[in-house]
Amino acid sequence: MKTIIQKFGGSSVASPELKKRIKEIIHSTKSQGYAVVTVVSAMGREKDPYATDTLINLIKEVNATPSLEDLDLIMSCGELISGIILANYLNASGIKACYLSGEQAGIVTDSNFGNAHILYVNPQKIIECLENDIVPVVAGFQGADEKGHITTLGRGGSDTTASALGVALNAQMIDIFTDVDGVMTADPRIVENARVLDSITYNEICQLARDGAKVIHPRAVEIAMQCNIPIRVRSTLNNSAGTLVSIQNMDISNNVHFIRDNLITGITHTSNLAQVKIDISKLENKKGIELTVFKAMAAEGISVDFINVQPDTIIFTVMNNQADHTREVLDQIGLQPAIELQCAKVAIVGAAMTGIPGVMAKVAEAMVENDIEILQSGDSYTNIWCLVSEENMAKAVKALHDKFELGC
Ligand code: ADP
Ligand code: MG
Repeated sequence: MKTIIQKFGGSSVASPELKKRIKEIIHSTKSQGYAVVTVVSAMGREKDPYATDTLINLIKEVNATPSLEDLDLIMSCGELISGIILANYLNASGIKACYLSGEQAGIVTDSNFGNAHILYVNPQKIIECLENDIVPVVAGFQGADEKGHITTLGRGGSDTTASALGVALNAQMIDIFTDVDGVMTADPRIVENARVLDSITYNEICQLARDGAKVIHPRAVEIAMQCNIPIRVRSTLNNSAGTLVSIQNMDISNNVHFIRDNLITGITHTSNLAQVKIDISKLENKKGIELTVFKAMAAEGISVDFINVQPDTIIFTVMNNQADHTREVLDQIGLQPAIELQCAKVAIVGAAMTGIPGVMAKVAEAMVENDIEILQSGDSYTNIWCLVSEENMAKAVKALHDKFELGC
C-alpha cells in the first residue's frame, strides 16, 4: 500500500473554506492511488476558542498551578475537537474517514508530561482503517504513556506525530500543510521578499528549525531522516509545489540533484530572551564558580543557552519569563547579575559555511551599517548568531537577509 501522511497545521483547519481545501487535497491524493493518513492540529491560534493557549488559560482560571498531567489532558482536547470535526466533515462530503486520538492511533510516549517523546507506534488501528479505504484523522501533538496517561509532545508536536506515523507506516511522503508556501529564506512575516526554497536537505532544515524557524519541528525532521522519508512543506491554500526536504538538494531548473548543503540557507530569529551577565572579576574565590552557577540553575529547572564563560564574566541567556527566578537563584549564591530583558537571537544558517572566509565579516558589516549593537555572538559549523535587543530584531533579520542576497 502506497501511503502519504498529510498533516494540517492550526491555521489550516480553522475555516469552512480551509476544510473544503483539505477535502480536495485528500481526494486528489487518493485519486493518485495513495492511502492517506491525516494528522491535525488544534484549530486556530491564541484567543480562538479551541486553540491550545485558550485551553491552558481555561484551566489556569480555576487553578494557577494545575498538575502537568491535567495540563496535558486539557491541551490534548484541541486536537481532539479539530480531528472529530474534520472526520465528520469528510464523511459528510463523501470521503470515508474515522477519528483516532493519539492513543488510539498507537502513539506510545514516555511520561514526560508537556514534552513527551514518542517511544514507539503501534499502527494497528490505522492499518485497519486504510485496509477498509477509510482515512484515519489522527489527533496530532499527543499520545499516551505505557500506563495510558495522555501526554503531549511539546509545541509543534503535530509535525512529530506526522513523522512518527510516516516511519511506522513506511510512507512514501510526509506532507506538512501550513499557511506559507514552503520553507523560506526567512520568516515572511518579517522579510517581505523572503524566497521559497524548492528543496532543502534534512541537515539544513534541522538547523533552521533548531535556530527558531518554526515552520517545522526539528524532532519531526530527525525522525523522518532516520528512515529517509521525504517531507514536503506546502501551502494548504494553493497548489504550489512547496519545499521538498530530503537527503539531497536539487537544482530543479537544470534537473540536477546533489547531496550538498547550501552556503547560507536562511536567516532565523528567536525572541523573548534575557541575557544574564555575572561579573566575577572581584570575587575572592572564583574557582569553580561556573559549576556552582550552572548547577544551581539546573536544580531549579531553568534552561540556559548561549553560554560564554570567560575569566572575568559568565554570560548566558534564559527565557524572559525566567529572568526573575534566575535573579533569585543567583542571589541565593551571593551573585548579583546584570540582566538585559527583551533580547532576541538572530542567526544566519548554512550547513556549508564552515571554513568559508568572510562570512563573519559580512554579518558584522550588516549590523554596523544598520546601527545594531551586538550584545553577544557565537557560531558553530552551521550557523553564526548574534544576540540583539528585541527592538532591533526585525531590522537585523532584514539586514542579514539583504547582505547575503537571499531575497527574490
Ligand atoms: P502550523 O500551524 O501550520 O503548524 P506554524 O505557525 O507552526 O504553522 O508555522 C508556520 C509559520 O512559520 C509561518 O506562518 C511563518 O510565519 C513561520 N516561519 C518562520 N520562519 C519561517 C521560514 N524560514 N519559512 C517559512 N515560514 C517560517
Ligand atoms: Mg507548526
